[in-house]
Amino acid sequence: MERKGLIIVLSGFSGAGKGTIMKHLLKKHPGEYHLSISATTRGKRQGEEEGREYFFKTREEFDAMIAAGELLEYATFNGNSYGTPRSYVEKLVNEGKDVLLEIEIQGALQVKKLYPEALLLFVTPPSANDLKERLVGRGTETADVIAQRLAISSQESQYMSGYDYLIINDQIEKSVEQVYAIISCEHFRTARNLDTIDMIQKDLKKFERR
Ligand code: 5GP
Repeated sequence: MERKGLIIVLSGFSGAGKGTIMKHLLKKHPGEYHLSISATTRGKRQGEEEGREYFFKTREEFDAMIAAGELLEYATFNGNSYGTPRSYVEKLVNEGKDVLLEIEIQGALQVKKLYPEALLLFVTPPSANDLKERLVGRGTETADVIAQRLAISSQESQYMSGYDYLIINDQIEKSVEQVYAIISCEHFRTARNLDTIDMIQKDLKKFERR
């Protein structure tokens, strides 16, 4: 029997390492997951490519996508809009493929409302101090921006318990394997296999004694 595709949402604080986990996961298990590419109004960063990191849109284009119902979810983060194109995710899930969404918390909660069966994973460093050290260690943001990110993280932390699983990202390789294990196990949940249960039950009926 065809297994069902999962919608897997990975969120986490800025600097928690979710992007790195995602990259390693895709590299280590090629072909097993499909990454959803979001649309965004934010400017392209150095090294980014249209259609690889994001579909870069003007405000007008983004608003038109919302109006046409083309986004499965969308949210504002740091003054820019981000959204998940609906058709790609729906197509793959219907084909039984697992789709990964690396999105922030407001978007993740919208996905859970729309698809209660979606799997929500939250990535955090072991402590708040670790988070600060990682942001400082990157050396790419000013002290002001770091303070702003930490303030956002503090607000975001209120929603952590709405996720299904918590990944404490201490060692990247360990976290990657944990995410892989969680996704693998999720496929075996009885609630995700009701069609198979139904088929076996019907099949067994023929052995029932009268
Ligand atoms: P960045 O600008 O650093 O690439 O991303 C900023 C934040 O937006 C990250 O937390 C990222 O996960 C989130 N994000 C990226 N794409 C989407 C999306 O389609 N929807 C939502 N809700 N958040 C997104």
